[in-house]
Parts: sequence; structure tokens; C-alpha cells
Amino acid sequence: MRKVKCPQCREESEYSTENSYRPFCSKRCKMIDLGDWAEEKFSLASEEVPDEEELEKAFMEQMRDSLH
Ligand SMILES: [Zn+2]
Repeated sequence: MRKVKCPQCREESEYSTENSYRPFCSKRCKMIDLGDWAEEKFSLASEEVPDEEELEKAFMEQMRDSLH
């Protein structure tokens, strides 16, 4: 069973399809991290607030790139 460290709280969590928040341990950590990242990316960019789906998509692309 593959374990990954949660990028947010550094707890080990199961990297499985059952964990829909992977590589985070929980929704809470995912949302915290997503929030930090989104703030950084969008705060200066525009006054437009991207919808949640857009954010999630962009975030997952970012994650994928950074995991390589
Ligand atoms: Zn966590």
C-alpha cells in the first residue's frame, strides 16, 4: 500500500483511489493548500474570482506538474 506525506500537514496518508483528496490526507488539508495557492496565483492577476471548478482544474494541473 502506497503512502504519501500530506503536502499540507505532513501526516502520512494512504495514496489510493479511496482517498479522493490525495495526495492530501483530508479535504481540510486540500482546501487549505488550494486556498493558499489560489490566493497567490490570483490575488494580483485580476479582480475576477475563478469558480471552484476552474480553480480545482488549474490546481490539479499544477500538482501534476510539480510531482514530476
Ligand atoms: Zn493533511
